[in-house]
Amino acid sequence: MRIEVLNTGSELLLGTTMNTHGGWFGQELFKLGLRVQRQTTVPDGDAIREALAECVGRADVVLVTGGLGPTSDDITREATAAVLGAELIEDEAAMRSLEAYFALRGYEMSPDNRKQAQVPVGADVLPNPNGTAPGIYVPPRLNGAANCAVFLLPGPPRELYPMFHAEVMPRLKALSGGETAEEVLELKFAGLGESAIHHGVDALLAEIPNLEVGYCARTSEVDVRLIGNAEAIAKGREIVLAAFGDRCFSEDGSSLEEVVVGCFSERGLKLAIAESCTGGLIASRVTDVPGSSTVLTYGFVSYANEAKRDLLGVSWDDLQRVGAVSETVAKQMAEGALKASGADVAVSVTGIAGPGGGTEEKPVGTVFLALAIKGGVTQVRRERYVRDRLAFKLTVSQTALEMVLR
Ligand code: ATP
Ligand code: MG
Repeated sequence: MRIEVLNTGSELLLGTTMNTHGGWFGQELFKLGLRVQRQTTVPDGDAIREALAECVGRADVVLVTGGLGPTSDDITREATAAVLGAELIEDEAAMRSLEAYFALRGYEMSPDNRKQAQVPVGADVLPNPNGTAPGIYVPPRLNGAANCAVFLLPGPPRELYPMFHAEVMPRLKALSGGETAEEVLELKFAGLGESAIHHGVDALLAEIPNLEVGYCARTSEVDVRLIGNAEAIAKGREIVLAAFGDRCFSEDGSSLEEVVVGCFSERGLKLAIAESCTGGLIASRVTDVPGSSTVLTYGFVSYANEAKRDLLGVSWDDLQRVGAVSETVAKQMAEGALKASGADVAVSVTGIAGPGGGTEEKPVGTVFLALAIKGGVTQVRRERYVRDRLAFKLTVSQTALEMVLR
């Protein structure tokens, strides 16, 4: 079943509103084993009619978003009626629910809203409990030779999402008539480059019939996506994990911080974090995860030397002698955080994000990370990440979380 998405709205092309619908549809449809084949974005106005005619000519299903409002630039309804050669009539039930929407809120309905109750003859009205514009479903039989199902859906996500789940998904399931559902497996890796993974497994994966393989490089993370039936995915997974299993931190879409929090809370362990160059990013990532309060005890942002001394007990002499960005200081930061917090594990980072501040011995991008474990020996790692400040911070936070996990 060929599905196309048509997003309308001048603001999407002006860049004032980020077009998030395409990606959202992709994910939701994939849960049904369906895929978006093409996504088109057009401004308000005549372009809608033109684009819709093209989509209807190619696709089995078109999902149109936006332009169902009461204003003069909301012309999706009219454009659709023109393309499908259908007459627009006022739908009584839609009119009543519009009136009820305004009555409930104690507003007077503007005459402009009347047009929102207009639907092509024979189409289904899709209730919108979260806004004024009802959705519209034009079944394939009404589209003459095109034989294409068209859904007109509201632009605002808080109206679109519930309508999609309640009204669109059941109809799509019926239309797709049990098309074989594909599954997806996303394996996430840290500490490895995209090309290393690709080089290590791609030729082997290519031998598996009906397996689609995708690689996605993110900042300090590579995702390998396997799509296919259960058997193909199991074979693919085996190959990838045999080669790089020790670097795989997630098989269910969880982020590194989610895995860290899950792992610590399962074992009843507490974590403390001492940060210099990441400025709190590691703690911020950990606290993004629900349930992190049972795991994270202290997050120190010890940026200045005085803070490293006063909060974490780092030796002033060492700070002067070897500098804040050093193995010695990273070690003392982690051990100081462990002691001050009473946690089971503490991680610390201290580095030079740049662009200034590097030396020959410690160039920009140099970072020391230390991991202190209650009753254990503190490990220190030296790395160099040459990239802009934000990417540097993200990369360091990724390495720190990865160290905590191991
Ligand atoms: P309204 O009654 O608000 O006019 P509408 O159905 O006509 O609703 P639009 O006017 O196209 O929808 O969009 C309304 C708002 O919905 C936009 O300002 C924007 O915030 C959001 N929106 C629309 N399309 C998208 C999209 N593709 N991605 C993200 N947000 C969107
Ligand atoms: Mg609008």
